Amino acid sequence: MTLSIRWKVTLGALLAVTLGLAVAGWLALRSIERLELARLTEDLEARTGLTAFTLRPLVLPLTSRSQAAGRSPATVDSSLQNRVRELSRHALARITVIALDGTVLADSETADAAVPRLENHRTRPEVLSAVTTGRGTDVRVSATTGQRLLYLALPIASDSSLAGVVRLAIPLTTLDARLLHLQRALWIAFGTAFLVSVAVSVLLARGLMRPLSDMAAVARQLAGGALGQRIRLRSHDEVGVLASTLNQMADQLEAKIREVSEDRAQLLAMLTAMVEGVMVLDCRGTVLQVNPALERMFRVQGAEARGRAHGEVIRHHELNRLVTQVLESRHNQSGEITLVPSGRTVRIEASVAGGQRENEACAVLVFHDVTELRRLEKVRKDFVANVSHELRTPLTSIKGYVEAMLDGAKDHPEEAVRFLEIIMKQSDRLNLILDDLLQLSQIESGQVLFKREPVHLHEAVERTLALIKPLADKKGHNVTVSLPPDLPPAAGDEDRLVQVLTNLLDNAVKYTPDRGTIHIAARSIPVGEPDQDQVELSVSDTGLGIPEADRPRVFERFYRVDKARSRELGGTGLGLAIVKHIVEAHQGQVWVEGNVPTGSRFIVRLPAAK
Ligand code: ADP
Repeated sequence: MTLSIRWKVTLGALLAVTLGLAVAGWLALRSIERLELARLTEDLEARTGLTAFTLRPLVLPLTSRSQAAGRSPATVDSSLQNRVRELSRHALARITVIALDGTVLADSETADAAVPRLENHRTRPEVLSAVTTGRGTDVRVSATTGQRLLYLALPIASDSSLAGVVRLAIPLTTLDARLLHLQRALWIAFGTAFLVSVAVSVLLARGLMRPLSDMAAVARQLAGGALGQRIRLRSHDEVGVLASTLNQMADQLEAKIREVSEDRAQLLAMLTAMVEGVMVLDCRGTVLQVNPALERMFRVQGAEARGRAHGEVIRHHELNRLVTQVLESRHNQSGEITLVPSGRTVRIEASVAGGQRENEACAVLVFHDVTELRRLEKVRKDFVANVSHELRTPLTSIKGYVEAMLDGAKDHPEEAVRFLEIIMKQSDRLNLILDDLLQLSQIESGQVLFKREPVHLHEAVERTLALIKPLADKKGHNVTVSLPPDLPPAAGDEDRLVQVLTNLLDNAVKYTPDRGTIHIAARSIPVGEPDQDQVELSVSDTGLGIPEADRPRVFERFYRVDKARSRELGGTGLGLAIVKHIVEAHQGQVWVEGNVPTGSRFIVRLPAAK
């Protein structure tokens, strides 16, 4: 059980008061008793002296007779006994006359016949003391009366020797009664003083403790998070100073907590907004913090991850190795890992932080998803390799024929003309590739401004067909068009959309064997939300088709399903890449599906005009 300070103070004060009163009372009683006894002894000594003097003539002959007989007398001397009784009445005390051998010669309170049977008094302390020192006193309870008695004994001396001892005894009843009375009065006084001190100490403790209790209550509220609470200042004493110091501390605490909260909120906002995943580890590799990007990247829950070993949170051999290296070497490290099963590439920058102990940030790992970057790098590298290859093929051909001409073919007109035609064709192809590349790079770099106007697809299809029809007819293709009459216009740039259609139809004509069927269709796709409606255009053919694995890749630059065939048919490998760029610049989508039963079906979705 714990006592409150108030009770401790109250009980402490009461204990002190009680002890003080008890000691004071005891000392007072004892000193009064001692004083009274001294006074009574003094008085009794005077009376005993007188008695000794008075009895001396009676005692001396008695003692000298018994000394001569060598024994104590068998009967009491009645004159001495009468004298003793008489003196006792005047002296108001019991008088006993004792011979030196301890025999009682006379006693005022004992019948004459009983005196010789009285116990030997030699060993009584007052008698012994009177014989040896000339005066003896004692206070004890009488065995016969049960009263407390004060004894005083003086010797009765002859000229040369001691004759006996006379002893006076008075009861201490009056003294005892007075002391009892005094004790009672003291009890009452002490009881009153005790009650008063109880009341005073309770009041004092309450007065002293109230500000402290208030402070304790406010401190509890502060600890509970109510930082706005302050202690009311009541005084300017030590308690007041303590209260004002506590208030200052609360001010500082509130300011500090606000500062820390703001910093934390900013930090959290930064961590939350970051695209990169962040993981903070302590020196043992325990996860202290992860941000939402990391949670998404590795499909982990931040709350579950915190406090666990990094290896349990993300199970990746290379990552574990990297973390171990950083924590052991305490040097920044970086590396790249591939995630399973997503196949995404993640670059990790692991930096050493200042922490040295458990639960302190020792290493900060930043995870960048570089999948797209790596893909673009690959596309760029492939592109450079492809461009070189695509340009080198016609150039090599041109160079070969020019050399053949120089080597003598120029002197054979027929051959020369054939060679020159080939050189011309290859130059055209070079030109075509360069035109397409230029166009692509212009679209990519944003140099081409796309108009955004309602494009009626009927007209666009008609314009395209006017260009393509001769080629289709040449191969005996059957070109059909089915556009609903109420087709809403698409939002975009008509010239560019004609280019899209031309490329798709050109491919359909090229990659469909003679006498195939090419079908152009369109439909409106109402999405229901304002500005979200779309128009879908499709070009299907009954040609060679595209294997499913190649379908997503045919939109890449220079990607061809069958290189030789494409080249033979005059393709640059850039047509569909240009289609994709134009459609995406219109916020549309393009993809290819297999046509039933054979061939391909290219689908373009464009936003409908408002
Ligand atoms: P190309 O100039 O070689 O035609 P494209 O970018 O237009 O280049 O087309 C890329 C590749 O996609 C072609 O080489 C061809 O293999 C394939 N392809 C495109 N359209 C069709 C189609 N309608 N039918 C079959 N394959 C096609």
